[in-house]
Amino acid sequence: MTTPKFIFVVGGVMSSVGKGVSTSSIALILQSRGYTVTVMKADPYINVDAGTMNPTEHGEVFVTEDGDETDQDIGNYERFINTNITSINYMTTGRVYQTVIQKERNLEYQGKCVEVVPHIPEEIIRRISAAQQKSKADVTVIEIGGTVGEYQNILFLEAARMLKNQHPNDVAFVLVSYLPVPSTLGEMKTKPTQHAVRLMNEAGLQPDFIIARAERMLDDVRCEKLAQFCSVPKDAVIPAPDAPHIYDVPLQFEKRGFTDNILKRLNMRAKKVGKKAHTNDLLAFKKLLHTINTTKKTIRIGVVGKYFHTGQFVLADSYISVIEALKHAAWSFAYKPELVWLDPESYEKDSKNLRELAQFDGVLIPGGFGSRGVEGKIAAIQYVREHKIPYFGLCYGMQLAAIEVARHVASIRDAHTQEIDPKTKHPVIIVNPFQKENIMQKRFGGTMRLGSYDCALVKGTKTSKAYGKAVISERHRHRYEFNNAYRTILEEAGMRVSGTNPETDLVEIMELNNHPWFVGTQFHPEFLSRPLSPHPLFKGFIAASIDRQKKR
Ligand code: GLN
Repeated sequence: MTTPKFIFVVGGVMSSVGKGVSTSSIALILQSRGYTVTVMKADPYINVDAGTMNPTEHGEVFVTEDGDETDQDIGNYERFINTNITSINYMTTGRVYQTVIQKERNLEYQGKCVEVVPHIPEEIIRRISAAQQKSKADVTVIEIGGTVGEYQNILFLEAARMLKNQHPNDVAFVLVSYLPVPSTLGEMKTKPTQHAVRLMNEAGLQPDFIIARAERMLDDVRCEKLAQFCSVPKDAVIPAPDAPHIYDVPLQFEKRGFTDNILKRLNMRAKKVGKKAHTNDLLAFKKLLHTINTTKKTIRIGVVGKYFHTGQFVLADSYISVIEALKHAAWSFAYKPELVWLDPESYEKDSKNLRELAQFDGVLIPGGFGSRGVEGKIAAIQYVREHKIPYFGLCYGMQLAAIEVARHVASIRDAHTQEIDPKTKHPVIIVNPFQKENIMQKRFGGTMRLGSYDCALVKGTKTSKAYGKAVISERHRHRYEFNNAYRTILEEAGMRVSGTNPETDLVEIMELNNHPWFVGTQFHPEFLSRPLSPHPLFKGFIAASIDRQKKR
């Protein structure tokens, strides 16, 4: 094998122009040539993980199988390269400092003065090497959060510079930049990108490739200009106009010769892709895109959640894996999903607003925390249960469904979750005993029930039919659980426990009898859905929604 290769992806000009998708796409195109690829994220914030941030602040918290609460980009990597990525591939400034300080306390620096440079970048490099070794990757792609020129990510850039200095032939840099087209001019401007490259140069880095993100296609004149002023060959400037779809990006990269160009730059010979080509190869994505682009059928799903609004803007990023999972499942039936964000607080203000739910083919309630909007969500669940509208509840969505059935079917009027009413007489949802201590001690970071747990399915349920398996494994993130003391009462009310943890007997899945699809999961199935292998429960939910549409 040749020496391991490293590709750093950095952002220029502004954030949110598709650095994560570019990183995932680079990983995929290399993987499609038969290389083993792993992808890492280095986030500049001090938070040790993303778990302590509000989703409207940061976007979704993506949970890895080994229970890390990471950035949503990790979800994109998993979906693109169809590989589970673990904790070792994610770092934050907080995490890096934590290790260095702990090492200092353990006398591991042997009496040296421990300094920001070189010790912090050295720890970053150690983490990169560890992730590479664990996955035995031919290529490790590292996305550095933020944009060049920011104070926050400078130590990650310094680590990249040091690694390049140690292995000049094995490290490449990709700048994902943005070229604005001011409406008053109608002309695409290259200057901000030129500045971004200068900022990289100041950090001792020179991009090998520039991904020219823009509303439109980069033209030859501006390509030439970028090449000349940013010191890269013309074919290293990769035009990247707004793509109709994220899964189109790797195909565009491939078409523009980016894959061959990277291989050449890193002195890698193209491998022959064997018969057992990776399932996530580009051809499969091409077929999927064909379906996405040609289907005329749509399925309307209402999503009742509270992390949508920031100021004047609606932000769906908080639920990105849920949205993706719904899309994957809908596409697999050749439907386009039409997702509508619904505000539970409006149902609390006026119960007539609940009637809007009737227009949907299916309704989903994703995970959540705290009391805002909870009564509205419970009202929505009652409505879809009574009107036989397919319902899918994820985590909080399952807990609230159990409360709804307890209140309105089993007539336990004050049934509640201890999360909201710790003294409730009828705690249908209780705090997990291990979590009680965490909450009391204010140990909130990384202490929820996190990561993958097994779940044994009950034969004959809709759930077990959907999975077609006896035991499954799914990812969790919660502190509260269904209270087994209410199991019999709820079963008598028509709610069936369809999956439990084999070791602890915790209820992981519930479903309603006599309803087309009313399923709640204590775990987050959305984290396991992939574009080319949609999640079975999302498929079940969409199939039931299609049924409802057809019958109407
Ligand atoms: N708030 C609930 C709990 O902590 C549900 C969490 C979630 O939906 N992820 O148990």
